Amino acid sequence: MRPITTANILAIGTELLTPYRTDTNSLYLTARLNELGIDVIGKRAVGDDVRAIEAALASALQDADIVITSGGLGPTADDLTRDAVAAALDRPLAEDPQIVEQLRERFAKRAQPMPEINRRQAMVPRGALVLPNRRGSAPGLMIEHGDHVVVLLPGPPRELEPMFETAVRERLAARSSGRRLRRRVIKIAGQPESTVDHIAAPIYQPLAQRPVPISTTILASPGQVELHLSARGADMAVLDAELEDAVERLQTALGDSVFSTDGRAIEVVVGEALRMRGLTLALAESCTGGLVAGRLTDVPGSSAYIVGGVVAYANDVKRDLLGVPADLLEAHGAVSEPVAAAMARGVRRVLRSDLGVAVTGIAGPDGGTAEKPVGTVCFSVSGPGEQVTTMTRVVPGDRQLIRQWSVMVALDLVRRALR
Ligand code: ATP
Ligand code: MG
Repeated sequence: MRPITTANILAIGTELLTPYRTDTNSLYLTARLNELGIDVIGKRAVGDDVRAIEAALASALQDADIVITSGGLGPTADDLTRDAVAAALDRPLAEDPQIVEQLRERFAKRAQPMPEINRRQAMVPRGALVLPNRRGSAPGLMIEHGDHVVVLLPGPPRELEPMFETAVRERLAARSSGRRLRRRVIKIAGQPESTVDHIAAPIYQPLAQRPVPISTTILASPGQVELHLSARGADMAVLDAELEDAVERLQTALGDSVFSTDGRAIEVVVGEALRMRGLTLALAESCTGGLVAGRLTDVPGSSAYIVGGVVAYANDVKRDLLGVPADLLEAHGAVSEPVAAAMARGVRRVLRSDLGVAVTGIAGPDGGTAEKPVGTVCFSVSGPGEQVTTMTRVVPGDRQLIRQWSVMVALDLVRRALR
């Protein structure tokens, strides 16, 4: 049989054609397929219309070896993927008694009779393999159709992802070309994209011409730049060794602005540094309104090193809760390095942590002056010990961007303070 090298993805659901829902399943599926050496050559969102799904499927099968659909496997009248696939592949549906039984058991566990409409979920196109769903009622389906494969997965990501992992991945690996894709991501803080590219391009450009070519893409988000390196080939050990070599060279060139080379986010890196040194952190946030604390406490286990924080928006709060002297606020203004330093010191004292970090700035759109334009943000880290770092950045963009950028700068400042 011909190996599977190309895929089309169909995201099924009328909600995906509105402004309110995004198709994220295809991103997940693309990452997993790429790891198996399968390129996604196209993807589409299709509404809950049996003719539309049927047509989309027929066309998707023409140019790709595999078509993966997500959604429309539920029991309601707008769940039409099964019917459309049966029609497109000319494989009649028949009720699978085993699925009916499993559905009944599922409902019985919750002391409920199975609604008759759920029987729709037991309808299986001829020759399809049933993929169990541990997290929902809709089983998935996999159909080998000539040289092609069609996989039907449920819409909810928390059902689709484990189903792909447990029931689809290995089966596709067996039918793939044996070529794999391996990736590494280098994450960089506090450097503009152009600076990163200026340093990195002389290193990564020649990598694309090597016997095992490594391709590089650069991705910027507020305060962070990522270099994505990927290599394809049959021997994973060789790919990993080549990538490791490339990562080391880039890391050396980019220096200490690299905060991770293994996919870890900055809040994870900061958390691990705190944990390793047995230190705790408290936050005093003005213009970021608690976003720094939010990022740090996204990480499971962060209670081991995050003590708490104060959203010190008003000057009174900076003064009364954090002990920032009134004359300091008067003399320098709330957005100033002396006030940032006093906030960091204050929160550290009040919450009795080993480090305190403070952010105070003008996120806009109002409040800027000639001397302190919108985007002026002051940061300070107090600790560990006597160490103090304070700095000012004029951050680009609108309010949202300024706040996101500030979170990143604050986290990076803590990371650097912990080295
Ligand atoms: P169910 O049994 O829950 O009805 P289903 O297979 O019929 O499963 P859908 O009804 O199409 O799935 O979608 C259920 C929910 O899953 C949607 O409301 C949406 O939140 C989520 N969902 C569907 N498709 C996608 C997608 N492509 N990306 C992200 N989320 C999705
Ligand atoms: Mg549904």
